[in-house]
Parts: sequence; C-alpha cells; structure tokens
Amino acid sequence: MRVLVTAGPTREFMDPVRFISNRSSGKMGYAVAVAARDRGHEVVLVSGPVALTPPAGIRLIKVVSAAEMLDAVSVQLESCDALVMAAAVADWRPVEMSVQKVKKLAAGSELRLEPTPDILLTINPRKGKRVFVGFAAETTGMETEARRKLSAKGLDMIVANDVSQPDAGFDVDTNRVVFITADASAFTLPLMSKREVADRIVKWVENACPLSSVPAPGVSVQDTAPEGGARLAQQWNFIREIDKLKLVLRRTLLLDGSRYENDAEHSWHLAVMAVLLREHANEPSLDIVRVIKMVLVHDIVEIDAGDTYCYDEKGNLGKVQREKVAADRLFGLLPGDQQQELMSLWEEFEDRSTPEAKFAAALDRVQPLMHNHGTGGVVWKAHGVRCGKVMERNRHVEEGSRILWEFAETMIRDAVKRGYLDE
Ligand code: C5P
Repeated sequence: MRVLVTAGPTREFMDPVRFISNRSSGKMGYAVAVAARDRGHEVVLVSGPVALTPPAGIRLIKVVSAAEMLDAVSVQLESCDALVMAAAVADWRPVEMSVQKVKKLAAGSELRLEPTPDILLTINPRKGKRVFVGFAAETTGMETEARRKLSAKGLDMIVANDVSQPDAGFDVDTNRVVFITADASAFTLPLMSKREVADRIVKWVENACPLSSVPAPGVSVQDTAPEGGARLAQQWNFIREIDKLKLVLRRTLLLDGSRYENDAEHSWHLAVMAVLLREHANEPSLDIVRVIKMVLVHDIVEIDAGDTYCYDEKGNLGKVQREKVAADRLFGLLPGDQQQELMSLWEEFEDRSTPEAKFAAALDRVQPLMHNHGTGGVVWKAHGVRCGKVMERNRHVEEGSRILWEFAETMIRDAVKRGYLDE
C-alpha cells in the first residue's frame, strides 16, 4: 500500500511572530508512519511543525498552516491507497495576517478569526475506494463526539482518545484509544505505547484496504480444462466462489485485538480444534473426518446470507430461510453428487442431532468464547451481552463434550470475575 499520514499541529499566523496552534507533539502520527514503513508500505508523511527527528525511509513533506497541509494532502492523495489523518489541525485562523509584527495589542482589541478549511471534508469527494482514518481528541463525551465526526467526515474508522487523561493524548508516549468503525462498532484498546497503537491502526487499514487485494485473473477453467472438463469447471467455480468467505466478518476479534476474524479463519480454526480435541468428545467412536468436513463447510452459506451475531435476536428471525436459499445457490454450483454431500453435511450440522454434529457445534461455540475471553470481552460489552445469555447460548456444548463444557464454564466464570462480562 501507499499510505499518506498527517501529523503534528498546524500554526495559523496573525503576524510574523504570533500564531494560533495546539499542544500536539506529532508523536502519534509519526508512530503511524513508522509502523506503516516497518510493515513494508510506502509512506508519505505530511507534518506540521514538530520537534521530532524525520524518520528514515519515509518521504517527509513539511507544512506550517492548515491551508498548506490541505494543499500537500490534495496533491499526494491521488497516488495513495489510504490516509491516516493524525494531525491536530488548528480549527481557527486569524482573518488577516499582518506582514509586520503588530504592536502590543491594546486592551479590548479584537482578533478576528475564521475557521480553517476542513481537510477531510474537502478531499472527501475524491475518496473513492481509499481507506480514510481520522482521530478525535476529546475531553468530554468522547465516543458520541467521535461517532459524529466519523460520519460527518465520511471516515472508515476514527481513533478516539480522551486527552484529559495524563497518560493519553498530547505529548506523552502512551495512548488509550477506542477504534470506532463505519459499521458503528467500537472497541477499546488498553493503555499502550503510541507505537503499539500505531501498529494496530496500520493492521486495521491493511485489512480494510480493498486496493491492496489483487484481482483474480480472468482465466476461465472452461477455456483450459481438458476434454470432458465440465466437472472440474464446476468444482473450480465453487472453489473461486468460496474465496468470498474470507470477506465475511464475524463479531469476534482476533486475540491480538487488531481486527475482526473472518468466517474462513473461523472454520479453519475449528478444523484444527477437531483434529486435536477429538479425545474430549462424548462419543468416542465418532467419525472425526465428517466433523472436520462439517466445520469446514458449516459457514459457507454466510457468503450470501451474511453472518448473524448469535446474540442478535432480531437478526436471527429470518435466518433459517435466508440460509436455505444461500445453500441452494452455493452448493448448487457443484456437480450433483458433491452438491448433495455438502448440503447434507450442512443440514446435519444445523440439525445438531448426530454425535458428529453435536461435537462440531461444541467446537463452534468454544472457539468464540476463547476470543471473547482473550480480548477482554470488548465485543460482549459493545453488544450488552450478559453472563446469563452466554451460559444459555453455549450450554449445548455439553451435548458434544462434557469436558469442553466444563472448560467453557470456567472460562465464562473467569470472564465475569475479571469484569469482561457482566453478571
Ligand atoms: O479537529 P477535529 O476534532 O474535528 O479532528 C477530527 C479529524 O479531522 C482529525 O483526523 C483531523 O486530522 C481532521 N481535521 C481535518 N481538518 C481540519 C480539522 C481536523 O482534516 N480542519
């Protein structure tokens, strides 16, 4: 990716020696630029006046005022895939700038101000598929204000921080931030160094940036398949189609908290768990290969039907019908025998009556518990999910594995004890 980062304050001069500015040190923006560089991206850093050493391997464009920053961002934007707007742009500037130093202002004299151009708003019409991340430094009503800015400025994500805290915000090396994304979800990161926050931001951008994905080559298997290759063509078509499962995001954060997990990753995780944990299944003679196949295909319908959060009662209402239509279309892409095999594996999983399906379902519940526990319950909190609901929703783990249910119960109780989950 080519990443454009802004950093530092701007200065809005009223005469050659006086200006309006703010306390921004530029540390957060510089950390983002360095993190992006270290992760192999090309970086352009547009910086207001700061006391930091220019980082090696990064193109640095120095600016002073909001107007200059707007010019630089406008020019650089064209060739960039993502913009991280960490600069604390001054909100106001003097209406007039005197070329000579103004003599000491008399008591009662007025300084006339006008708003500076809003950079994000000005460039928004040229956003296209670029990923835009902004910052909101607040002292009160942080999340509400950050959400307002996120939507007003057309951002994909806003990093909100409470600058009234001594260990967060201006001029310190640590920060305590909340990521708020365009789908309205919020997740709170613990106190960490600005560099760590920067890493999380860059990882989030990588994940969100459609321009970093390579379009699939337009070669049709039909053109290249050998004589009688219709079967391979159908299989290949399905294999290409299920690439979309990697785009379906679940409401579980990866254990490092950097982003949401996708359905393909979730299915892979369950398959590995099936291999390793089979000895804990209630039914010792169960067919583990069928369990593995089941967990690998159980979420494919979500390519069309989408992921419904398990605690979303309204969203779960039309789910069965939606998923049936999706299963018909998706498995219908395969040759007849394989269509039937995958359809019946999926139905067996949904039915949860065979020992294999019960064990697969147990794995499907325990894995997200691990993620919620491991990320401090931020997603539970964001959705107001309480302990009783989690117990009720996961109790069927016991039908597939009593041992895993005991393990899950311990995890849930521990989450309550640690304050990750409300009683
Ligand atoms: O100043 P404010 O709190 O509105 O800043 C929110 C976001 O908007 C930040 O990412 C900041 O860099 C950006 N901004 C801007 N142009 C301005 C003021 C702020 O792009 N004039």
